[in-house]
Amino acid sequence: MRMPAWATGACLILASLLTAATRPVVAEEIVLRGTLYEPGKLQIGTRMPVCGRTRTVVTADLGDYGASIGGFIVLNPVRLDRLSAATRLFVYSHECAHQLYGPGEEQADCYAARRGKAEGWLLESDIDQICMIFPHKSRSPEHPNRAERCAAIRSCFDSAAVPAAAPVLAPQDRDFR
Ligand SMILES: [Zn+2]
Repeated sequence: MRMPAWATGACLILASLLTAATRPVVAEEIVLRGTLYEPGKLQIGTRMPVCGRTRTVVTADLGDYGASIGGFIVLNPVRLDRLSAATRLFVYSHECAHQLYGPGEEQADCYAARRGKAEGWLLESDIDQICMIFPHKSRSPEHPNRAERCAAIRSCFDSAAVPAAAPVLAPQDRDFR
């Protein structure tokens, strides 16, 4: 299986698998060793997220939180389990955007922020933890610095519409109404 150019280091959320660009076999092995989930079969928090027909591979062999390798979303449970459900769903959605739209880190972040707001699993306060998993300084030309990346995510979140069918309530409004 030959990986498309965008499926190598550029599309990793933290780009720590940059070796995949020169050693694609490593990335293939990561996928082969993982546990495969059919679309909609992997539970993240209380959700069963879907990304078209994309399957998800879960493996601790990935040197990052998440990645888009070939036609798969790849997630590292060891790294993600320490994070909130909102952050885990953000990582999944970010990699989903690479599957649907290809390269483009800001586009992938924006897709995840908008999707999270629209689906009701992402509150503005959740963005703080999401920002903490980004490196302070850019690790590649495709990945902006943490501050730039966070500002762009907040902007996408603010401008995203909230469908009437899925209202996002402030935490204090969640109970007894
Ligand atoms: Zn990415």
